[in-house]
Amino acid sequence: MHERQGTVDAVVIGAGIAGLMAASRLTAHGHSVLVLDKSRGIGGRMATRRVGEAVCDHGAQFFTQRTHDFHGVIEPAVHDGAVAEWCRGFSRDGSIGADRPAADDGHPRYRGVRGMTDLPKWLAARLATQGHEVEVRTTAQATSVAVGDDRVRVTIEGQNAPAEVVEAAGCVLTAPVPQALDLLAAGGSLDQLDAHAIERLRTVAYDPCFAVLLVLDRPSLMPEPGAIQFGSDAPGPVAWVADNQKKGISAVPALTVHATGAFSREHFDVPPDDVAGMLIDAVRPWIDGDPRTAVVERSVHRWKFATPTTVLPDPFVAASWSPPILCCGDAFAGPRVEGAFSSGAAAGMLFAERLAGGSR
Ligand SMILES: Cc1cc2nc3c(=O)[nH]c(=O)nc-3n(C[C@H](O)[C@H](O)[C@H](O)COP(=O)(O)OP(=O)(O)OC[C@H]3O[C@@H](n4cnc5c(N)ncnc54)[C@H](O)[C@@H]3O)c2cc1C
Repeated sequence: MHERQGTVDAVVIGAGIAGLMAASRLTAHGHSVLVLDKSRGIGGRMATRRVGEAVCDHGAQFFTQRTHDFHGVIEPAVHDGAVAEWCRGFSRDGSIGADRPAADDGHPRYRGVRGMTDLPKWLAARLATQGHEVEVRTTAQATSVAVGDDRVRVTIEGQNAPAEVVEAAGCVLTAPVPQALDLLAAGGSLDQLDAHAIERLRTVAYDPCFAVLLVLDRPSLMPEPGAIQFGSDAPGPVAWVADNQKKGISAVPALTVHATGAFSREHFDVPPDDVAGMLIDAVRPWIDGDPRTAVVERSVHRWKFATPTTVLPDPFVAASWSPPILCCGDAFAGPRVEGAFSSGAAAGMLFAERLAGGSR
């Protein structure tokens, strides 16, 4: 296909929370930014999906807010009606019945008001009002990142659109680290980058996660506040189960079931329908009656890069400073929404300062 060319200060690959925060810091400093996401919507692993009549969060389920910086973003998001407190803790014990209180450790757990994508959507809408040149483009897949003449060239393929090369002073990569390294390799750039940084990035690995969404024809038997957190290292197959109706985002009862990392690794190549059957068996105590009749619709999703199992201690890693190519996301500041937020914000801030320092 015909190739188009464009120029921008920074390209951000990924419109999850890390990418949106990096873009926010860059635009706040007056830099022009192009944010790309290969998916149809924004939010990445903060994902909400409609299944029949139900609305289900199928990636991240809630987030905490422990740092001052994140508080500064969450407070206005709560004020604008995008985010709400869900609860202050979850049952960790599957034997706890609906009549027993959940754990309360005093730390608020937040959710999007209509689903977890509400926070990324709110951040993207705020970006658009910052008054600087910023574009968030979906169904736009970066296929390579090349380096030359102290600039980066990002090749983008969209649905039914001609391939495009965008040239920029630098780039922020928020895709899972193995995929970010693939983009640099596809651009033929790896040998021009910081070899030590690339070695460190190669140590990052992720666990997969099966997510099964089950729409029910009757209320579930889940205890308040509508979720049980068994934990990613639970002995059984289930790490988490939540009722999206009790959570307050779905008009009808619908469970989100997440498998543990160990179960998901072990069953990665098993047909998804068989995996769904095993997970339905495991959550039977919270389904009222026979699942064969109570479950009216189901959907299975396999997250390949769900949770980083190696988290680097740095807020982000610079594969290069000249030009800036910064890798960030939840593999850096912690394997959760708040970690991805901090990592993206730190990368965006340092990149913005670098550009303002005249090194472009
Ligand atoms: C099943 C599951 C449950 C979770 N539960 C919780 C929870 O309860 N609480 C919590 O705090 N965290 C949870 N997490 C973790 C949390 O979702 C992540 O830490 C956080 O959302 C990561 O944000 P990010 O921006 O770093 O990455 P992502 O959200 O993954 O964003 C990266 C984006 O890059 C895009 N992308 C990738 N490659 C390309 C390319 N080549 N071109 C263009 N775009 C590209 C992707 O489409 C994606 O949108 C969970 C994750 C999963 C999968």
